[in-house]
Amino acid sequence: MSDKRYAMAIDIHTCVGCTACVSACKTENAVAEGFARDWITQITSGTFPNLELEIRSERCNHCADAPCVSVCPTGASYVGPGGIVLVDHDKCTGCKACIAACPYDARFVDPRTGTIDKCTFCVHRVENGVPTTACQSVCPTESIYFGDLEDPDSDISRVLRERDSYTLLPDAGTRPRHYYLR
Ligand code: SF4
Ligand code: SF4
Ligand code: SF4
Repeated sequence: MSDKRYAMAIDIHTCVGCTACVSACKTENAVAEGFARDWITQITSGTFPNLELEIRSERCNHCADAPCVSVCPTGASYVGPGGIVLVDHDKCTGCKACIAACPYDARFVDPRTGTIDKCTFCVHRVENGVPTTACQSVCPTESIYFGDLEDPDSDISRVLRERDSYTLLPDAGTRPRHYYLR
């Protein structure tokens, strides 16, 4: 078992919402037509004319206290290497308990298999010597940081040390490992 603790961070100041990350994920992971493991959220705040637009590339937060794992009746949802939350398709019955439990809407049923699909933090790459996820590797503005929080010299550790960041729905108590850099 990996002794790493993977995390991701998005720079909301440089993400332009181009959806290159969404396309790259679909191709890399052969995601079912009409579905996506990552998506772009745009939030407008303030009052006219002082409006601010925040653009975020979002995906599963690989929560440290993942309710999708604790509710899964078959053990199909589990914590894999480096804390990555994964799904064992042989054990998944498609009961959707995890979809109901996830506060982030990060899971869907793959119509081809009837089992759950979601972001894997590209475990097939990062646990096999490729240092980047597919979405990160194509980002034209280098807005996606990924790496091992246990390594103080990793890009993700450094940027989270140097920049202010937040997670989505912190009150949900899931302890996300996906951050947004202010
Ligand atoms: Fe944002 Fe980069 Fe994704 Fe484009 S590829 S939407 S800039 S995170
Ligand atoms: Fe589970 Fe949702 Fe957290 Fe991902 S974001 S680990 S699917 S609860
Ligand atoms: Fe898709 Fe991999 Fe990025 Fe997750 S980390 S959104 S699986 S490309």
